[in-house]
Amino acid sequence: MSKLDLALFGGPKTRATPMPGRMAFGDEELALIQEVFAAYKEKGIDFGYQGIFEQRYTDAFVAALGGEGYADAVSTGTASLFVALAALRLAPGDHVLVSPCTDPGTLNAIVLNQLVPVLVDTMPGTFNVGPEQIAARIGPKAKAVVVVHFAGQAAPIAEIAALCREKKLLLMEDCSHAHGATYHGKKVGTFGDIAAFSTMYRKNHSTGGCGGVVYTRDLDRYHLVRAAADRGKPYWKEGFDEKDPSQFLFPALNFNQDEVSCAIGLASLAKLPGVIARRLRFLELLDAGLKAAGLKACSLAPFTRNDSPFFAIVRVDASRISVPVADFAKAVGAEGIGVNPRYAYLAEEWTYLKPYLADAFHCGNVLAARDGSFNVLFHERHGEAEVADVVAAIAKVEAAYLK
Ligand SMILES: *Cc1c(COP(=O)(O)O)cnc(C)c1O
Repeated sequence: MSKLDLALFGGPKTRATPMPGRMAFGDEELALIQEVFAAYKEKGIDFGYQGIFEQRYTDAFVAALGGEGYADAVSTGTASLFVALAALRLAPGDHVLVSPCTDPGTLNAIVLNQLVPVLVDTMPGTFNVGPEQIAARIGPKAKAVVVVHFAGQAAPIAEIAALCREKKLLLMEDCSHAHGATYHGKKVGTFGDIAAFSTMYRKNHSTGGCGGVVYTRDLDRYHLVRAAADRGKPYWKEGFDEKDPSQFLFPALNFNQDEVSCAIGLASLAKLPGVIARRLRFLELLDAGLKAAGLKACSLAPFTRNDSPFFAIVRVDASRISVPVADFAKAVGAEGIGVNPRYAYLAEEWTYLKPYLADAFHCGNVLAARDGSFNVLFHERHGEAEVADVVAAIAKVEAAYLK
């Protein structure tokens, strides 16, 4: 295999046709949207928010997490993070320890709540934080920890929750990558004081183009979530009058979700177990395929049957290839495979964020994990044929670049 055979340099592509699109929204979602219109037509009123479909959706969401607790649907995942943090009612300037690799929304929600992000490194070789890494970053101003369950794999959240209880820190989970993933048999999102889920269209279940959910096991906290998501309204209080803002509790914006989105979420949530099963199947086939190909530099990062896979992490031994890992991954992408060659969601690398971080702490583990891997993008409609092409493309690129 020569470099010139690579599609990157004009050779034939491993996969000439595009990968199948996801098309997560189908007949089930459309039928539920039509139910919204039919139900409100029968009532003779327009639909709005905090209505019957949000109730059905959040009930189903709570049931999917094990049946206890409360959920509020909000307008975006970023809003769910912002609202969840606001509902913790921390004081301006309090420090919030946070995973170092995530969507900017996680960090921005901290900053825009007037809190100070403290980056925590990941466990060696991984993208998830662990209790040791968190403990090492707890200072006198620390009040809360935000843990991202990365790429659909649970962080060691039971151990992290125990640490937070011991150190009297509030714990928030960002479950946007990990809908339905479990740890020790319990769903992620149920370990902390509060959890945020993005339900935008790329996530494993979704409420349409955008959306989010805030979940908590505590009724008082749920009340604060509802207030933080809707102008500080204490809707649960005796004699509350929505038309009297003098009763409102604190300044907050309006992040309400609407009935149509909740109907889509209801249909999508019912599909989540099947989505997870098919995504796990993809990873199992990919793992077996990469092993059978006898590769020297590439392997799939470990995963478990408890994950809700969001994308696949392929590890590359940089010492065995003749180009940087990101260039290797670009060559795989040129073969017709969906890849993210270099994961750029590392908070310490964002110039705009630097003035807001507590310090210039360097997260060496997550940088090394990122620099030694790339992501294969896939979804539940990708099956054996797609796996075969992914394996063939990686094998072809490795053969061209192996030292
Ligand atoms: C998607 C995502 C978000 C942001 O959600 P939006 O719905 O795009 O606002 C935040 N955190 C993580 C980990 C995500 O994956």
